[in-house]
Amino acid sequence: MATQRMPGLQPGRLDGETLAAHFSDLHAPLTPHEALVAADRCYFCHDAPCVTACPTSIDIPLFIRQIATEQPKAAAKTILSQNILGGMCARVCPTETLCEQACVRETAESRPVEIGRLQRFATDAMMAAGSHPFTRAAPTGRRVAVVGAGPAGLACAHRLAMKGHAVTLYDARAKGGGLNEYGIAAYKSTQDFAQAELDWLLAIGGITLETGRHLGADLSLDGLRAEFDAVFLGLGLSGVNALDVDGAGRDGVADAVDFIAELRQAEDLATLPVGRNVVVLGGGMTAVDAAVQSKLLGAETVTIVYRRGQDRMSASGYEQELAAQKGVTLRFNARPVAVLGNGAVREVEFEYTEDGPEGLTGTGETFCIPADQVFRAIGQTLGAVPEGLRLERGKIRVDAEGFTGLDKVWAGGDCATGGDDLTVTAVAEGRDAAESIHRALS
Ligand SMILES: Cc1cc2nc3c(=O)[nH]c(=O)nc-3n(C[C@H](O)[C@H](O)[C@H](O)COP(=O)(O)OP(=O)(O)OC[C@H]3O[C@@H](n4cnc5c(N)ncnc54)[C@H](O)[C@@H]3O)c2cc1C
Ligand code: SF4
Repeated sequence: MATQRMPGLQPGRLDGETLAAHFSDLHAPLTPHEALVAADRCYFCHDAPCVTACPTSIDIPLFIRQIATEQPKAAAKTILSQNILGGMCARVCPTETLCEQACVRETAESRPVEIGRLQRFATDAMMAAGSHPFTRAAPTGRRVAVVGAGPAGLACAHRLAMKGHAVTLYDARAKGGGLNEYGIAAYKSTQDFAQAELDWLLAIGGITLETGRHLGADLSLDGLRAEFDAVFLGLGLSGVNALDVDGAGRDGVADAVDFIAELRQAEDLATLPVGRNVVVLGGGMTAVDAAVQSKLLGAETVTIVYRRGQDRMSASGYEQELAAQKGVTLRFNARPVAVLGNGAVREVEFEYTEDGPEGLTGTGETFCIPADQVFRAIGQTLGAVPEGLRLERGKIRVDAEGFTGLDKVWAGGDCATGGDDLTVTAVAEGRDAAESIHRALS
């Protein structure tokens, strides 16, 4: 077996038992008794600020009251009627910057009601019962194509199916789920939850999922517009920004999203190679996920290097703390200038930066960090976009309802303007676009 100190990329740096412990549920589910105690802390505020802070506007005090009165399935229905991926969102939402940050008990006592864990308690109860709380309306005879089976596409497809429309859901990948399946950190979504939730969602009926279908290759937007009454695009961000420095092509340099996807799909984590010294470039959630998971796989040192100050990192304070707790080093105000090595990467050279009114400037002072694996986590971009769609700041331009301005075409989630590239926002946008499509078709 490889050890943590062995140089280069090595699989099996940790034994199977340790790996299983490292990648188990980040937050254990609440027991029924713990859920009652947690629910009891809610003041059931009138005009509750937690609801306003939730992009899907779940009636949080209502669902917490339903848990408090021991009706977890009714609580789940309250959640799912606003957010059909409430189970995944309970696991992945940055609640510390959304509902829980707004909770009055956070303001008063620095300890919010545990809304995320309560949401998980309720939605898990519904999934465990194997029931689907919604029924399909009578078929309308209308057909809608949804491209992209990520959170936006799934939320849109489910809402349209509920309204009685027939939905064909296309995705380029081998499995549906989008980043729920290929992006979310393994310890946030354990036991194949993304696929279980997908199967549960499809149980509404009226949705046909076709995987391995690629808009731009075997599907065209014009073809879909001719064949269907409406089209929703939930394409996400499939491109990644390039690292424009000397040596960026050396062996051992890879995109963080590819590493994370490989990790999520690995049947045996002990087969996944990881470096002894890992350097992650970037300051967002993807950087933190790649760094934490490298450490959990057994890398000896993992360093996140972000070009601006800590206050500018898009990863939340909670995520930064999680990284630090897992042994990841965070360094700020430094940008990569070269990836050094002989074939494979050996170290990364950085230059210190200053972030002033003229933007980011280098100080000329440099330093090196040893690395046998480097992950680029410097931002995702929109992939190829069909003709006829207007772009704004690198995304598909949409109005408040998700309409693109191109006849019959709506878009939402990460690929569209507005929103903040979170699962819950993608769900809200997919759902709202479905309502808009339904109005247009009625
Ligand atoms: C590494 C990583 C970790 C993240 N962690 C979190 C987290 O913890 N919490 C959180 O709230 N958010 C997180 N996010 C953000 C969140 O995953 C996204 O905001 C969300 O998945 C966006 O949903 P979407 O449906 O718009 O796109 P996606 O989930 O990206 O789904 C898009 C789908 O479209 C398909 N597709 C793309 N192009 C085509 C095409 N041409 N033809 C057919 N199909 C196509 C793709 O295969 C994919 O299945 C993370 C993102 C990343 C990258
Ligand atoms: S703000 Fe906090 S206390 Fe008030 S309803 Fe929401 S969860 Fe309950």
